[in-house]
Amino acid sequence: MKNTSMINAEKIWLSSPHMSGQEMKYIDEAFKNNHVFPLGPNVSSLEQDIMRYTGSKACTCLMSGTSAIHLALILLNVGAGDEVFCSSFTFSASANPIVYQGATPVFIDSEPSTWNMSPVLLEKALLNRKLAGKKPKAIILVHLYGMPARLDEIMEIAHRYEVPVIEDAAESLGSCFNGQATGTFGEMGIYSFNGNKIITTSGGGALISPHAEYCQKALFLATQARDAAPHYQHSHIGYNYRMSNICAGIGRGQMEVLEQRVAKRRENYAFYRESLAGIEGIDFHTAPDERFFSNHWLTAITINPEITAGVDNLTIYHALNEFNIETRPLWKPMHLQPVFEKYPAFIDGTSDKLFATGLCLPSSSNISDAERLRVANAIKQIIHRS
Ligand SMILES: *Cc1c(COP(=O)(O)O)cnc(C)c1O
Repeated sequence: MKNTSMINAEKIWLSSPHMSGQEMKYIDEAFKNNHVFPLGPNVSSLEQDIMRYTGSKACTCLMSGTSAIHLALILLNVGAGDEVFCSSFTFSASANPIVYQGATPVFIDSEPSTWNMSPVLLEKALLNRKLAGKKPKAIILVHLYGMPARLDEIMEIAHRYEVPVIEDAAESLGSCFNGQATGTFGEMGIYSFNGNKIITTSGGGALISPHAEYCQKALFLATQARDAAPHYQHSHIGYNYRMSNICAGIGRGQMEVLEQRVAKRRENYAFYRESLAGIEGIDFHTAPDERFFSNHWLTAITINPEITAGVDNLTIYHALNEFNIETRPLWKPMHLQPVFEKYPAFIDGTSDKLFATGLCLPSSSNISDAERLRVANAIKQIIHRS
């Protein structure tokens, strides 16, 4: 029997934008000064804010996380015929820029605790390529749902094989490994400020690096690669990838509350864990030990239908949808995507299984206590009625 009051209840979103109230101040300032263009004081200030927060040495704000990955690959001279290793369990934007460059993605599966790149499979793939006389140009390492990957092991292997790491920290701004911000371990790191991320500029991204030259060069390429001359002179192919000064104004207001946003997302995770603790067959995406500090951008669970009397992730997805609650299965791994399945992959079934059983729960930082409770109660009801 359907509970109509629940169906008519207001929509609960998976991850919605959450303004601090300070954004308009920076946008007004930009309008008053006619700074309605890319490259302006809000952009420079946002870059300073990001550097201060993450401890990174250099930062260039761009129009998306995807453009940041693209520029990172260009800066590492990735081109036709090259291979780039990439986490298979991710959003397609991690891998698309490899193909923009005419290079070949090689997908590496996850390990079951962090759900991120398996150090064992990474080493296996590197050894395999080494024996074939081939070395990947880069490794794109993703920190999914905010959970840091096994950075100690991955970075050690990458150093040993001398392959640069680009950290796709699009989902993990505010996450740390051993007290150090994700995104700051590799040659370069990227963040995303898309509307669904932990903070947003409505659309935007950033490239960070311990090497200032990378960020300077990214700025040059992102602004049409103009050589120093009074006329328009070009000796490189350029891009129009710079963040606008208006979007950066939103970002400045958002950075002021990033710490609170991380705390709230983590609290959402703790709430769901506690409320669903009694339900057999539900497992949470869990930090392996205290070195892993996740922002828990999205609270992700897996459901074992053998224990829940046949209720699986999609049953819950559809049933919650009836209750006007938005959830989402976990990312479909890249090696299973029609557009990527032809590429090489080192796979052991871990992400296949996660995709088959996982679900992301509503995790917005502006979700109310009542809404969270509605989600938890609905899940209990769906599992218990079976
Ligand atoms: C969102 C996201 C991106 C892309 O960021 P955009 O700013 O949307 O271009 C890349 N990788 C991952 C893992 C993401 O979640």
